[in-house]
Amino acid sequence: MSTHSKKIRCCNTVGVKIGVLALQGNVSEHIGAFERALKCMGREDQSSVSPIKRPAELEGCDALAIPGGESTTISRLIEKNHLHEHICTFSGGIFATCAGMILMATNVDDPRVRPLGLIDMTVDRNAFGRQKESFEADLPIHGLDGGPFHAIFIRAPVATHAGNGVTVLSRIPQGIVAVEQGMHMALAFHPELCGDLRLHERFLKNLAI
Ligand code: GLN
Repeated sequence: MSTHSKKIRCCNTVGVKIGVLALQGNVSEHIGAFERALKCMGREDQSSVSPIKRPAELEGCDALAIPGGESTTISRLIEKNHLHEHICTFSGGIFATCAGMILMATNVDDPRVRPLGLIDMTVDRNAFGRQKESFEADLPIHGLDGGPFHAIFIRAPVATHAGNGVTVLSRIPQGIVAVEQGMHMALAFHPELCGDLRLHERFLKNLAI
């Protein structure tokens, strides 16, 4: 761990360095949402949110966001850019949405995805079928103050099983759609698209030890 990140973990008011995996998918939306969340928390000074394409860019980051997009494509590009081991051994928290949630799993129903295995869960990529590829729902989220979260699902996955170390934050009839494990959070929907920053803030608060 770098001296810089040690300092951050000791003090809640010091900056936080966030990387956003920028291989494919909705990268700029994640950068914007984290910038807004840091500002709302009064932590924008000395903080940064930057795109990550190469292993060296991950160094010194306290958090990584893995955005939605196409998990088979992102998986292939993670291999191509030699990022798999670096992400698997990353010491910070990971905020993963949709395709990102698929990548974080230990088991995925599609052999074209090489999962990172960072959250003990089995994920079904094609959970909603064609006719319901996109929908919105107001979800109760475990431990989240301020009422249900308006969740936007776009060709979303669900987790069909989560291990003992995983906290299930939200579940719908089709399966589990939000989980936490340690500092990691994985969501089947897209909080970066809805303007509600409560989940970003919760993730950031969990990081600062
Ligand atoms: N269905 C996509 C996949 O399998 C994920 C969709 C999304 O990230 N919005 O990767």
